[in-house]
Amino acid sequence: MIKIISQTLGIAATNCYIIGDTDTHQAILIDPVDNAPLLVNTAKQAGFDIQLILATHSHFDHVLASAPLKQLTGAPFYIHHEGEKWLKTLPQQGIMFTGKPFPEAATPDRLLTDEPEIIQLGAITLETIFTPGHAPDHIAFYLRSEKVLFAGDTLFAGSIGRTDLPGGNYPLLIRSITEKLFPLGDDTRVLAGHMEETTIGREKRTNPFLID
Ligand SMILES: [Zn+2]
Repeated sequence: MIKIISQTLGIAATNCYIIGDTDTHQAILIDPVDNAPLLVNTAKQAGFDIQLILATHSHFDHVLASAPLKQLTGAPFYIHHEGEKWLKTLPQQGIMFTGKPFPEAATPDRLLTDEPEIIQLGAITLETIFTPGHAPDHIAFYLRSEKVLFAGDTLFAGSIGRTDLPGGNYPLLIRSITEKLFPLGDDTRVLAGHMEETTIGREKRTNPFLID
């Protein structure tokens, strides 16, 4: 059985998700937000071993714990290819947002492309959906078996990702959401990088940024 654990952490109240397989005890972690020892412990207490680390995009609040988590778990780290250069700016992002440099990010072990790809760990199969607009390296991950979308900072309950940061593009974000996420279907659960869970159907009907 697939189990999903969510945790909200860090100075930007960012959601981190652990997708675990209760039969094999393998788990994928989406967005190493902060506090790597806590993330490892949370997984362990649920009976899971983090074997793969994914990032939806390279903003600091989604990757701050990437290096220590990779070190603690030995798990590989995947991000979109555009994210590689942005990851290197993590210390400067710290100065910009907090006045102090953040630690270096992990070196990616695989660079995801703009094309749909399959990421497999045991019985867990995720499909990548390249969704630029909030950030140029943004990937959403779709867990088709459970009809769950890990939307990162594209679509939120009642809102959408900001587009005023470097590489942001508002029309492109709207296109990513309406052309790539909406077709997943109204009953798709949306677990985003911030705020509470929603569904595609609810956002189509009520999200002020998306209703015509
Ligand atoms: Zn972001």
